[in-house]
Amino acid sequence: SALILKAEGLKQHYHVKQGMFKPEAVVKAVDGVSFNLEKGKTLAVVGESGCGKSTLGRMLTMIETPTDGQLGYLGQNLLTLSKSTQTKLRQKIQIIFQNPYGSLNPRKKIGTILEEPLVINTDLPKADRKAKAISMMEKVGLKAEHYDRYPHMFSGGQRQRIAIARGLMLDPHVIVADEPVSALDVSVQAQVLNLMMDLQEEFGLSYVFISHDLSVVEHIADDVMVMYLGKVVEQGTCEQLFDNPKHPYTLALLSSTPQLSPEKRRLRIKLEGELPSPLNPPSGCAFHGRCRFANERCKSETPVLKLDSYDESEQGHLIACHAVEENRINLAEEVA
Ligand code: SF4
Ligand code: MG
Repeated sequence: SALILKAEGLKQHYHVKQGMFKPEAVVKAVDGVSFNLEKGKTLAVVGESGCGKSTLGRMLTMIETPTDGQLGYLGQNLLTLSKSTQTKLRQKIQIIFQNPYGSLNPRKKIGTILEEPLVINTDLPKADRKAKAISMMEKVGLKAEHYDRYPHMFSGGQRQRIAIARGLMLDPHVIVADEPVSALDVSVQAQVLNLMMDLQEEFGLSYVFISHDLSVVEHIADDVMVMYLGKVVEQGTCEQLFDNPKHPYTLALLSSTPQLSPEKRRLRIKLEGELPSPLNPPSGCAFHGRCRFANERCKSETPVLKLDSYDESEQGHLIACHAVEENRINLAEEVA
C-alpha cells in the first residue's frame, strides 16, 4: 500500500507572553508526533480536548507551520517546498471541522459553498463547477434540488454531509476530520461515519480522524494514536489499542466509554482530575498527577514512546510509560 502522509517529530511550540514581569512561557501544544498514513487508511488521533489534536490537524493541513519536524506528502517534504507548490499540494489535504453550523456561511447557498474551492483553485467554467457540485451532493446523500438552499434549511447531519462534500470538491487524497461527528446525535453519528467509510472506499481516501471519544473511532480506524498534553502516549493498530491497551491513560479513556464491548475490557481505571494547564505542565510524565501507577521516577523522568519489551508479539505497538516498561501493571486485575 502507498504511503501518503508521513509525519516525523512534528512540533508546535507557542511562545506565550504572560505579562510584563513574567518570562515568556512556551506551550508545547504538539511535542514530537510521528506516524505513517497509507492510501485508503484511517489514523485516529484520540485524547481529551486540549491534548493537541486540533493543532496537529492544522499542521497536517498546513494551516499552521510546525516549529519543528518533517511532513512528507507522497515522498515530498511539504515544509521545504516553494509556496506555489505547497499551495497546489495542500489542495489534496483537506480539513473538515466539528461544527457544521459555524463552518458553513449562512448567507451562501449550498451550491455556492461547494463551488467556492473550485472558483479559488481552478479555471473550471460555471457549468462544470455546478455539475461537480451536484455529483458530490449526490455522493454524500443530498439531492440536486438542495443546490439552491441555504445551510439553515438543513439538519446537523445534513450540514455535516455538506461540509464533507465541500472537502471533496478538489479531489483530495487526505481528509483531516476534526471531531466530525461530535456535535451530532448518536444515531446520526453512525450514519455520517458510514458515509465517511463509503467515501473512503470509493475515492481511496486516507483519513486522519480526530476525536475525544474512543468509541467513535473503534469501527473506522486502522491505526490509533492517543495523545496527552501534546505527546503521543500510545500508538498502534486499532486491534492493539482496543484488544490490548497498555497505557494507564488509554485504559482510563476506554473505561469511560460504556458502549465498548465489555468482554474486551481489562483493567478499569477511572479518569480522575483534570487535564493540567499546558502553560505549566507537570514534570516527568505529564499524566503522573492523575495516575495510580505513578512513582518517583514518573515525577522526574519523561517516559519515551517504545515497544513493550515484555510483550514481543506486539509489533509496532508503542507505549510511553515507566510502569509498562517496568512491568508493574497487571492488566488481568479487576476484569470487568
Ligand atoms: Fe503513570 Fe508513570 Fe506511566 Fe506516566 S509513566 S502513565 S505516571 S505509570
Ligand atoms: Mg478503513
